Amino acid sequence: MQKKACVITFGCQQNEADSEKIRGMLQNIGYQIITADMTEDMTKQRGQFVEKSGLSECSLIIMNTCAVREHAELKAFSRTGQLKHYKKNNKDLRIGISGCMVEQDHVIEYIKRSFPYVDFVFGTRELHKVPEILDRVVTTGKRVLERIPDLPDANEIPEDLPVLRDSSFQAKVSVMYGCDNFCSYCVVPYVRGRERSRGKDKIIAEVRELAESGYKDIMLLGQNVNSYKDPADNDYKFVDLLTDLLKIKGDYLLRFLTSHPKDVPDELLTLMGENKKLARHFHLPVQAGSDRILELMNRKYTRGYYLDLITRLKSLDPDIAVTSDIIVGFPGETEQEFEQTLELIKAVEFDNIFPFIYSKRKGTPAEAMDDNVTRKEKTDRFERLVKAQNDIVIAKNKALEGKTVRVLVESEYKNRGEGWLAGRTSQYKLVAFERSADAGAGLIGSFVNVRINEGKLHGLYGELIT
Ligand code: SAH
Ligand code: SF4
Repeated sequence: MQKKACVITFGCQQNEADSEKIRGMLQNIGYQIITADMTEDMTKQRGQFVEKSGLSECSLIIMNTCAVREHAELKAFSRTGQLKHYKKNNKDLRIGISGCMVEQDHVIEYIKRSFPYVDFVFGTRELHKVPEILDRVVTTGKRVLERIPDLPDANEIPEDLPVLRDSSFQAKVSVMYGCDNFCSYCVVPYVRGRERSRGKDKIIAEVRELAESGYKDIMLLGQNVNSYKDPADNDYKFVDLLTDLLKIKGDYLLRFLTSHPKDVPDELLTLMGENKKLARHFHLPVQAGSDRILELMNRKYTRGYYLDLITRLKSLDPDIAVTSDIIVGFPGETEQEFEQTLELIKAVEFDNIFPFIYSKRKGTPAEAMDDNVTRKEKTDRFERLVKAQNDIVIAKNKALEGKTVRVLVESEYKNRGEGWLAGRTSQYKLVAFERSADAGAGLIGSFVNVRINEGKLHGLYGELIT
């Protein structure tokens, strides 16, 4: 019988893209890949674990982890704890932990001490070594918990790894890895290493292949895509890459994530304004609305600069959706400083925000900053921020009622019962609609036009226009 493996992903799109490569490599060495939702799987009823998704049939489970906030780490540890049960029932099961968490020495120590049933770990720069590490674990029967030390070429990007993509119409393509920005709160530069870009020819070939095989939504990924430069020609920047990619024929949208506001050249704004094949969505994390906090965060721009950037972007095309990440409760953030963040989100009218409560990360400069903001103040600010943003989203979605939008259909939409489908617009807004009797689930993966009847907080609801 074919051996089964499951890779469970925590965290960002970059981790999802890494997991697709891990799955590709595992498939290549003979595993059947299953998808399992561990939360579902671990439902405990009357003290018994209820099996739902086939995780217990796996001979390999890998958890690809995130370290960006404490909450993500605690969740990964708690899931790892639950895996003990699977190991008890299946002695041949191998368990691996990968991703940003295991790039930290204190985490490796903790795994050694507290999770004796974890067989191996591998970091974000060692993905390509998975088959080798696994082979070592199986043949020696020993745990592999020391990360392969950073070799001089550790920052080289392994190309041509097999990829088992999650979707047949939405794809993620990494263009650069790592980060050199060292925002004072952020662990990413330490766990993902220095900035390095893939060669342009490899990226162009990958996107061409995706477009030719019918992919409709192609997302270019990097911690800061705007600092992309072709390793063979440092004058070839992100805008040059986009310009070349946009020449590839096909009915698809090209998007990118994430951009640091300090690195948005005029050429990129102009290109966004001109070429609608670029998705009408710009994720530009502002993080905070006060100049003092921005400086403490080491973000290298001011509130005024950011607001001006948004004005310039909107003047090129008011249809471009702008979204942001926001951190509340940064060490020393005063009530007035928080209110400046609130005022900023109201001034920009973001289409969506991803709000976070500041989380202290080991080894970052902010770890040493005095933090006199109480837990209560932090959660209170978080709730006020969410409330203010919700009001903006509701007003924006309401304003779309009666309009017709183009939607890439992603899936069935069960929340409203049978016969509903859901997808996303170029702005990445969620749209659910009732399909007509003659247009079935076959629409998944294609573009359709939908007239919006209701604009709500969590999405837009409408009807198919044929
Ligand atoms: N490179 C991307 C993503 C970084 S991590 C970027 O720069 O936008 C995603 C988001 O997590 C960040 O934008 C930030 O808002 C948040 N984040 C990072 N470190 C954090 C911390 N220590 N506490 C709370 N939120 C954090
Ligand atoms: Fe972290 Fe800042 Fe780099 Fe984003 S730009 S990954 S927030 S250090």
